[in-house]
Amino acid sequence: MTFEKKLFINGVWQSGKNFYDLKSPFNGEVLGRIPMADKNDVYKAIDSANAAKLQMRRLSALERSEILEGVALEFEKRFEECAQVLVKENAKPIKYARAEVQRTIETYKFAAEEAKRIGGETVPLDAAKGGKGRFGFTKREPVGVIAAITPFNFPFNLVAHKLGPAFAAGNTVVLKPASQTPLSAILTAEIFEKAGLPPGALNLVIGKGGEIGDLLVTHPDVKLVTFTGSFEVGLKIKQLAGLKKVILELGSNSAVVIDSADNIVDVAKRCVEGAFSYSGQVCISIQRIFIHETLLDDFMKSFIELTGELKIGDPKEIETDLSALIHEKEAIRVEEWLEDARRFGANIICGGKRQGAVLEPTVITDVDSSLSISCHEAFAPIVTVNPYSDWDEAINQVNDSQYGLQAGVYTTNVDKAFDAVEKLEVGGVIINDIPTFRVDQMPYGGIKNSGTGREGIKYSIEEMSDLKLAIFTL
Ligand code: NAP
Repeated sequence: MTFEKKLFINGVWQSGKNFYDLKSPFNGEVLGRIPMADKNDVYKAIDSANAAKLQMRRLSALERSEILEGVALEFEKRFEECAQVLVKENAKPIKYARAEVQRTIETYKFAAEEAKRIGGETVPLDAAKGGKGRFGFTKREPVGVIAAITPFNFPFNLVAHKLGPAFAAGNTVVLKPASQTPLSAILTAEIFEKAGLPPGALNLVIGKGGEIGDLLVTHPDVKLVTFTGSFEVGLKIKQLAGLKKVILELGSNSAVVIDSADNIVDVAKRCVEGAFSYSGQVCISIQRIFIHETLLDDFMKSFIELTGELKIGDPKEIETDLSALIHEKEAIRVEEWLEDARRFGANIICGGKRQGAVLEPTVITDVDSSLSISCHEAFAPIVTVNPYSDWDEAINQVNDSQYGLQAGVYTTNVDKAFDAVEKLEVGGVIINDIPTFRVDQMPYGGIKNSGTGREGIKYSIEEMSDLKLAIFTL
């Protein structure tokens, strides 16, 4: 990769007028000179996507599928290069970086498969008195130009969750990645170009969301906005988007209930992964643990011990479990929340210290649910542990949240498992595992302030296409 980067508009790599230095969150190394799209670049990108609409729409299902298969293949060839990009621009520890690239390949493969399965149904119109002599069927059509705005934390795979289904359904896209993760988006655009995506179908604009986001969201030629990121930005987008379709994949303060388990050490192990993987910068990271009081001591013993074994360090080292947060200001914010919690009687059982952008994995008890560390999304390696005595109380505490993405429930009682599925106010309930479980074809998304719409290729395709009804009069 060259040091000075370019924007990708209408199938052409073009220079910018203004630039910023992209720095590694871990050591401040300057990783590249990144062009910032201005208003004209954004409009040009939208015009290109609009002009490429017809060509994309006319591609056969097989042609769309083959492009996506080609993308998956190219990611396989450039696997290690992609993983190293995540280490650099995200400070993502290499083992998690490789796992993300692996998932990205799978996501594009699912998209290639789903491109072949977009169908409709016949509609029995003559079941109505007025429908005699009519034959109806439905088909799905691409919406047209999609604006995709993505976050920093899974910059390959969450972009794949936008581009894969968008192209599978025959749309065109203007992609705006997070300012901290342009390199992965540039690499993705290179791969699509190599795989033979028609020029103009994918346009990459880079720049501050607060400056160019509105242009994308309000432009009349953009028919759908798909956004993954924070609640605050998601709300703003929804308010601006008017009648456009909007998919919002937002944050959470995910909870797990541990009511009973065959092996509490295994549960503790999974909770360590769920709370601290990628330093908790995962939208379904465990932030709140609710555990039956009879299990508390055994759980805490293993949980604290295993947390203490986590290695903090350089993301390029294979032993590293946790590294820098994306910006030092995020670590400072959480440090302040912890300080606040301590003032109000919380106990920091382990961790809590910050060095620059690195925050230790932190376990905290006796936290009032109204404190920021519990009720807002931490997006950091922090978890609160709360004992309970009554099952309904645990369910109510999970639901006592502005968010509702996924929840995990450990129980050996099948009635309680069904009760949890029934009562938890979330988009997904994971029985006998952590809320952090996700594979890329499953329907994924939240309720309440965690968003609207679902990802998981088949489900995104439904969102990213319009249903058309045809009626033949016989
Ligand atoms: P963010 O600050 O909301 O940014 C997300 C994207 O929105 C970035 O590309 C950002 O650009 C852009 N943006 C910022 N202000 C904007 C505006 N006014 N209009 C349009 N776009 C704007 O989120 P983040 O810090 O990157 O990511 C963390 C958040 O994402 C967390 O809340 C996490 O839970 C959520 N998330 C949710 C899911 C899910 O599937 N539910 C998955 C992953 C992450 P800049 O980078 O230039 O500011």
